[in-house]
Amino acid sequence: MIIGIDDTDSNEGMCTTYLGALLLEELQEYGNIETLPILVRLNPTIPYKTRGNAAVALKLKTDCPEKVIAHVTSRIEELARMECEKTNPGAVFIQEKDYERLRPVLMSFLEDAVKEVIEIETAKDLISKLGIASKGYKNGRGLIGALAACGAMLNPEGWDFTFEHLAYRQKERWGTQRSVDKESFFEADRETYPKTWDTVDLTNRLVVCVPHSADPVLFGIRGESPEIVNKAASFIRAEPVERFAVFRTNQGTDMHLLPAQNIAEIRDMHSYRLEGQVSAAPETLEGGHVIFAIRDREGGEIDCAAFEPTKNFRSLIRKLVPGDLVLLSGSVTSGTLNIEKIEIKDLAPVYREENPECPVCGKHMKSAGQGQGFRCKKCETHSLSKVRFETERNLEPGVYEVPPCARRHLAKPLAREKRRDIKLHPAR
Ligand code: ATP
Repeated sequence: MIIGIDDTDSNEGMCTTYLGALLLEELQEYGNIETLPILVRLNPTIPYKTRGNAAVALKLKTDCPEKVIAHVTSRIEELARMECEKTNPGAVFIQEKDYERLRPVLMSFLEDAVKEVIEIETAKDLISKLGIASKGYKNGRGLIGALAACGAMLNPEGWDFTFEHLAYRQKERWGTQRSVDKESFFEADRETYPKTWDTVDLTNRLVVCVPHSADPVLFGIRGESPEIVNKAASFIRAEPVERFAVFRTNQGTDMHLLPAQNIAEIRDMHSYRLEGQVSAAPETLEGGHVIFAIRDREGGEIDCAAFEPTKNFRSLIRKLVPGDLVLLSGSVTSGTLNIEKIEIKDLAPVYREENPECPVCGKHMKSAGQGQGFRCKKCETHSLSKVRFETERNLEPGVYEVPPCARRHLAKPLAREKRRDIKLHPAR
């Protein structure tokens, strides 16, 4: 049986992955857990999300599905933060006999949940049309994520995946400041990067895998395999861990990006890979956000932003000039593309002008008066116009990314990129 759950937490506490980790242990009373649990990140622009728009699925071999359903629903009722308006839990249960039948439909539902915006009614209609056991609470929005997580579990090789080791705090410490030895995270990174990523941000000297909110997560280490994330976790010195779980995830895969043919097709609340030429030079706004515009071949234009939290990435963006050809990855909200990665494909030439040199003495000539060109008084030489030089750009073509402290869960880090056709500039 596959169990999908979503939308159990609020800003004040809980986390759907924690419920997943608890159930992993508790459901062993009713059968055998067959494989690693799944943590999917869905459309990152969805406003209903608490933090990272996560949903979880577990897979269990069991002879007593009714008992499993009763146990899961009673744990959701106990633990979900129902008092929060934004918490609308959902759980779906897929029987083994239905795996083949549901695989293609739910895999495509997962793709939509990561890339598109789905109505609650669409999920409810699908559940009733396909005859899936489910339980939605309040408006039942969590059914969307729960179905999507089941899609991922039904087809675990059908998408690019990574892993995360999530360590959870003892309950009595929830809501208090986390006690961790920061240096141990830098050690873990030194020993396992680039097979793990986003543990620390070296440039900004930050530990980025420890949350600051009231949820039960102590830290989460992301990487290429279960072995490497466990190895990295073994270096961590911190307060006692109540439990941990390793999830298979779509984090760090760019699964959210749609290829955009042109700017006219771009819609808010979607994420794209989009090519264009810089059409308005970068400008730094109040608050430190850097905004510029790109134009496509059909003349469509869109604002693109490197917001203040992207820190040092903004100094790279400020070097762009009109005419540069770029391929951007990022999400669009309020008509602005929030940059996650930039591929600088071609640099426009930039010129500076100087007064001409005197061919006799080699010194720069002076203006001979408005519209009268330039002259060297001493040598009595003349020239009509200034001389143009192409200047060095101090910017190299290649792919650049926001630093780890600003990375979106779904964004594929350059540490994972295998491309050889272009220079990669991984942020560390
Ligand atoms: P949690 O730990 O509870 O999962 P979260 O930050 O992951 O917290 P949720 O509380 O799950 O966010 O809120 C996201 C809500 O948005 C869920 O109800 C989920 O089903 C729904 N959702 C996810 N993807 C989409 C989508 N593509 N379209 C519409 N709704 C979506």
